Amino acid sequence: MEIVKSLNELRNARQNLPAPLGLVPTMGFLHPGHLSLVRRARAECAAVAVSIFVNPTQFGPQEDLAAYPRDLEKDLALLQVAGVDLVWLPTNEVMYPAGYQTWVDVESVTQTLEGARRPGHFRGVATVVAKLFNGVQPHKAYFGQKDAQQAVVIRQMARDLNFPLEIVICPLIRETDGLAMSSRNTYLNPEQRQAATVLSRALRAAKAAYEAGDRVAENLRQVMIAEIEGESLAHLQYVSVAHPDTLEELNMLEDDALFSMAVYVGQTRLIDNFLLQAGRWQVGERINERA
Ligand code: AMP
Repeated sequence: MEIVKSLNELRNARQNLPAPLGLVPTMGFLHPGHLSLVRRARAECAAVAVSIFVNPTQFGPQEDLAAYPRDLEKDLALLQVAGVDLVWLPTNEVMYPAGYQTWVDVESVTQTLEGARRPGHFRGVATVVAKLFNGVQPHKAYFGQKDAQQAVVIRQMARDLNFPLEIVICPLIRETDGLAMSSRNTYLNPEQRQAATVLSRALRAAKAAYEAGDRVAENLRQVMIAEIEGESLAHLQYVSVAHPDTLEELNMLEDDALFSMAVYVGQTRLIDNFLLQAGRWQVGERINERA
C-alpha cells in the first residue's frame, strides 16, 4: 500500500496502477460503513485508492471541524488489511493553496434538506470531490447512501462537468441496533447513544405506515415527528419525504421517495434515511447481517 501526499507523488503512484481504478473518498476515522465501500471497490476494480481529507470548506463556521475525530494510524492499518493499493492524504496546502478561488456550485439539488441547513456545505463537498477526481482520475468512485443528498449532488456534478467516471452508491451500514454508522457517533455518551436509535425507529415507523397504505407524505412526516418527539434527548431539525432525484418535498407518494431527517442528540447532529425506489425499500444493512 503506497501512501502519498503531494500531487506529484500521487501522479507517479497513479501511473503504476492497473485499470480500472476505484476511488473511495473519506474524511477518515474509518468504520465498517467506509470499509464496505472499499470492499465494493476491491471487488469491482483492479486497483483501489482511498483519500483521507477532513475538508475544511464543507464545515460551517459553527460546525465541528476542529473536533472532528481523527486516527490516521488506525485508518491506515484498516486500509492495509482491506487490500487498498494507494492512500492519498492531501494537505490543506495541496487542496487550497494560498490564493485559491475556484468553486463548484451545484444548483437546485443543493437548495433543500442538508443544503438548506448547512449553507455552503455542498459547495465545499462538490469542490473537494471534483479536485479528488482530477487528482486520482479514477474509473469508478464509491459513495455511501448514508449521505443521500451528497450522492445526488455528486452524480449531478459528475454528469454536468463530464467527469469520465462511474459513480457507485453503496448501501447504508448500520449498527446492530439500527443506528447509522458515522464517525460522529463517537461524540455520543452512552445515554445519548441509546437515544440515537430514534432516527432509524422513526424511519421504520414511517415505512410501516406506508406499508399499511398511507400515501399522504405529510402523514408520514408526522409519524416520524411523533417518534422523535417521544425521545427526550432528541431534538428534531427536519424530517422530509421528498422525490429522490429532485429532492423536492412530495404531497402524495406515487412511486419513488426519499425519507430523511436530521436530529440533534445533545450537540451531535445525526442524519439518516430510507429510500423507496422502484417499489423496493433500501433501508441499509445492519452490521451483523453482513458476511
Ligand atoms: P465521510 O468520511 O463521513 O465523509 O464518509 C465517506 C464516505 O463514506 C461517504 O461516501 C459516506 O456516504 C460513506 N459512509 C459514511 N458512513 C457510512 C455508512 N454508515 N454506510 C455507508 N456509507 C457510509
